[in-house]
Amino acid sequence: MAGANSRDRELRERAAAVIPGGMYGHQSVGLLPDDYPQFFERGEGAHIWDVDGRRYLDFMCAYGPSLFGYAQPEIDAAYVRQLGLGDTLTGPTALMVELAEALTGMVSHADWAIFCKNGTDATTMALTTARAHTRRRTVVRAKGAYHGAAPWCVTRPTGVIESDRAHQILCDYNDVASLEAAVAEAGDDLAAIFAAPFKHDAFVDQAEPDIAYARRARELCDRTGALLVVDEVRAGFRLTRDCSWSRLGVQPDLSSWGKCLANGHPLSALLGADKARKAAASIYVTGSFWYQAAPMAAALQTLRLVRETDYLERITALGGELRAGLDERAKAAGFSLRQSGPEVMPLFLFDDDPDLRKGFCFSSEMLARGVYVHPWHNMFLCAAMTEADIAAALDAAEGAFAALKRQAPELAPVDKLAFLSAGAR
Ligand SMILES: *Cc1c(COP(=O)(O)O)cnc(C)c1O
Repeated sequence: MAGANSRDRELRERAAAVIPGGMYGHQSVGLLPDDYPQFFERGEGAHIWDVDGRRYLDFMCAYGPSLFGYAQPEIDAAYVRQLGLGDTLTGPTALMVELAEALTGMVSHADWAIFCKNGTDATTMALTTARAHTRRRTVVRAKGAYHGAAPWCVTRPTGVIESDRAHQILCDYNDVASLEAAVAEAGDDLAAIFAAPFKHDAFVDQAEPDIAYARRARELCDRTGALLVVDEVRAGFRLTRDCSWSRLGVQPDLSSWGKCLANGHPLSALLGADKARKAAASIYVTGSFWYQAAPMAAALQTLRLVRETDYLERITALGGELRAGLDERAKAAGFSLRQSGPEVMPLFLFDDDPDLRKGFCFSSEMLARGVYVHPWHNMFLCAAMTEADIAAALDAAEGAFAALKRQAPELAPVDKLAFLSAGAR
């Protein structure tokens, strides 16, 4: 537990004075149990250390960016080498072309790439490209799906005005009828259909994409001339070495990438098919740091590891062991724990836990045993994890379930989450 005299407490107090709300976005104060550290000192492989020196096996992987583990030697060596040569220069280096060639070689729907910094840059650029391509306005996207923190898509719309959200119709993910209704409502103004690779919303069970939904989205775009966008920012390269809907036999026109693209270094990308090339060339998109060379050097190494190693098979197997082991231990302790989504991006929710008091208690007990899990957001496995790590997580879970059982009758409700989860449930 972060004690009263801890370095973390001290930093929180100082942050409260100089950072609005003490912290913002997905790091906002109060989204996690009180004993979770807010500040960290370092990361290596599958582990992170908080500012008080406590070490955790990290199932958040920086909310996705760590795919091969923190401070991965080959990736970071390439980054540091390029930093010495030049990073933010007057123009890009040859690495930009090499990286675009690498990505279009790996992602079957993609013929071109535009690089940017954050996932939000890529999703917003996808929308702009689709509008430029079709000369129409309306986007259809799924309720509750996260596409970034720009006014057009942010989940907490304080400070957002109606016109920021104009020309959007929300449907229900995996619900073909609601997708068709949304497209019908868009009429002759449909510019794009956005889709997550699978349903990975916060606070609710995750769901695999229904193949009929994916196919219908493709057909509706073909019929109307709109562009199909798959937002791979979170799931990219954790499900397959291609765009994840290629597993369903559905190719989008555009896909947005970020998070693990350079294994934690700041880089994102919009990939597109030839069909949208002219539109992509016609829009004005840029940023002071979009041509940075060092993250591109890191990305080239990351992609090489994606192509040349069995990381995907290993994290999938480890995720399977974690899921089976947790299931067994939850049952033995008398809990009904729902584990949803792909094994490499698990989400844990307890039955009969509407205000997440069980989830918060379980997560705190895991943290106390050196394992960092999340009570309502999907987690991530990384290739630095080992079977011994999974065994350690399962041992921790056994203790955490026992502690939860002892405390369950007296747990206080978690009410500060209400404002965030209201829309989701
Ligand atoms: C994180 C995320 C984004 C936004 O990426 P940022 O780098 O945080 O701007 C967009 N889409 C999905 C699916 C994400 O998970």
